[in-house]
Amino acid sequence: MWAYLNGQILKEDQAFISPLDRGFTFGDGVYEVIPCYAGKLFLFEDHLKRLQTSLEKTFIPFTDDIQNLDKILLELQKRNKFLNQSFYIQVTRGTDVVRSHQAEKNLKPTVFITSQELQENPFRINPNKKGIKVRLEEDIRWHRCDIKTIALMGNTMTLHDPSKPSVDEIFFHKDGMISEGSKSNIFVFYKGQVFTPSLRQNILPGITRSYIIKEMQKNNIEVIESEINLEKLLASEEVWVSSSNKQVQPVSKINEYILPIKEPKDSMWYKVLEFF
Ligand code: PMP
Repeated sequence: MWAYLNGQILKEDQAFISPLDRGFTFGDGVYEVIPCYAGKLFLFEDHLKRLQTSLEKTFIPFTDDIQNLDKILLELQKRNKFLNQSFYIQVTRGTDVVRSHQAEKNLKPTVFITSQELQENPFRINPNKKGIKVRLEEDIRWHRCDIKTIALMGNTMTLHDPSKPSVDEIFFHKDGMISEGSKSNIFVFYKGQVFTPSLRQNILPGITRSYIIKEMQKNNIEVIESEINLEKLLASEEVWVSSSNKQVQPVSKINEYILPIKEPKDSMWYKVLEFF
C-alpha cells in the first residue's frame, strides 16, 4: 500500500519515523479518519475543519500538507485503487533531539497518512443481520475527549483484558450517564424519540453524528442532545452507533441485556442508514 510521510508518497514499508517522534514518546499528536466512497471524499470539509480544530487545541502548527490534504488523499486513492477507502491522517508535534516533556522550539510536525480498504457496511448488505455486541465500561478517560488525539489507550485498554468477554464496541459511562463508544457515537430511540449524548459531556464531536442530526432535522425528526442514563439506555427500543467507517450500525446486545428485535423496515436506525 502507498502512504504519505512528510511531503512524500512512498510504499508503507519504506515510511520511517524516528523513535524520538513525540507521537511515539508521548502520544503527542492528533488524527483524523476520512472515508471515501467510489473515489469521492465524504464530508471532507467537516473532517478538515475538525483536524484544524484538534491542531489548534493542542498547539500543533498547521503544515502545508494540511492545506493540500484533498489532493494528497485523492492521489493515494488512485494509487491504492480500492473503490472505497478510509484515510488515517496522523499529525504529531514532531521529532525531538532528546526526550523531554517540553518540546524544542520550531519543531516541524510529522504528517503520516495511510489508506485502507473500506468494507461495505454489513448492515446495508444484510439489514436483518444481528446487531453488534456492546460492553459497558466506566469512562476512565481524560477530560478532553473532544480532541481527536492519537493517545487512545483509555479507549483500547479494556479490549485487551482477557477476563472480559470480547465485544464489537465498548460504551463508556460516567456518573450513571452514557457518553460515547470507544470508536463511535451513540444514538438511542426511546419512547418514540431519538436521543444522543450531548457534546457538553466532553465527547468527540463525531462528523457522522452531526451529519445524522442535520439529515434527521431535514426530515422533521428531532434529535434530542441530552444526558442518557443507563436505565434509559437499557429500556430503549433501539440503540445504534455512528462513525465514519461504520456509518450506522444497530446494537443487539449490551452486556447481558438483549434489545428488542424489530424488522429493519420498522426501525429508526434503518431510516437513518438511508442518509448515506
Ligand atoms: N467517538 C470516538 C471516541 C471515536 O473514535 C469516533 C470515531 N472516530 C467517533 C466518536 C465517531 O466520529 P466520526 O463520526 O467523526 O468518525
